[in-house]
Amino acid sequence: MPLKTDRLKKYNRYMKKIAFVSDFDGTITKKDFFQMAADELLDKTAMAPWYDYKAGRITHVEALSKIFAQIHIPQAQMDAFIASIEVDTFFHKTMAFCSKVKMPVYICSAGTEYYINKRIAKEVKEYNITLLSNGGDYSPKSGLILTPPPPTSPFYNKDTGISKEALVAKLQKDGYYTVYAGDGPPDIKAAKIANAVFARRTLLKMCQEANIKTLKFDSFKDILDYFRGIYGQE
Ligand SMILES: [Mg+2]
Repeated sequence: MPLKTDRLKKYNRYMKKIAFVSDFDGTITKKDFFQMAADELLDKTAMAPWYDYKAGRITHVEALSKIFAQIHIPQAQMDAFIASIEVDTFFHKTMAFCSKVKMPVYICSAGTEYYINKRIAKEVKEYNITLLSNGGDYSPKSGLILTPPPPTSPFYNKDTGISKEALVAKLQKDGYYTVYAGDGPPDIKAAKIANAVFARRTLLKMCQEANIKTLKFDSFKDILDYFRGIYGQE
C-alpha cells in the first residue's frame, strides 16, 4: 500500500493488520431495533422483558426474544419498518474506505441478522462485511424469532447469544490490531480486550467506570477520520 512518509511513522504503530468490529443497534443505527419496535409497533407493556433484563432476572437474549415475539404485522409492513431504521450517514463512506484499504470489517450484533441483513444488505455485499449475529426469522403469526448459536459454537455467550468478545479474541489471536465500536452493555467484554474502542452512551459510562480508554464517538465520521489518520486520505 503506498503511504506518504509523514504517515509512515504513525502507521508503524499498526503494522499489525487492523480489523474493525462494530455493534449494529445504536452504533451503526440511531436507535435500537427493539426500542423502535416498542415505540412504534407495540403497546406500553412491551418493554417489560427489557426491565427484567436490566434487573438481572432474565438474559439479554431472552429479553429481546420476548419483545420481538410480540411483533405481528404483515410482512410488507415489517419490511417497510426495517427500511425505516436510521443508519449513520457516514457508515457507507466508512465501509467504502475500509474496503479500499482491505481492512476486514465485522458487524457483531446481539440482535438478529434478520433485520441487519435486510437494512444494510447493499453494504454487506458491496464491501464484503462479515455479519456475526443471532439467527432470526419472521412471520406475522409467530413474530420475530431470535435463534442464538448453539452452546457448542466458539462464538456462543449465554447472556447475549452471540459472543462479541470471542470474535475480538479470535481476531487478536490471528494477529489483528482490533478496533471496536459499540454503545451498550453487550459490548463491554469486547471493549475490555479490544486494542482501540469507540464508545458512546451506556458503553461509554461502563468504559469510564472500568478505566478503559475510549475514542470520541459521536458518529461514524469519527471512525472514518481515525482510519484516514492512520492510512492517509486514500
Ligand atoms: Mg448497541
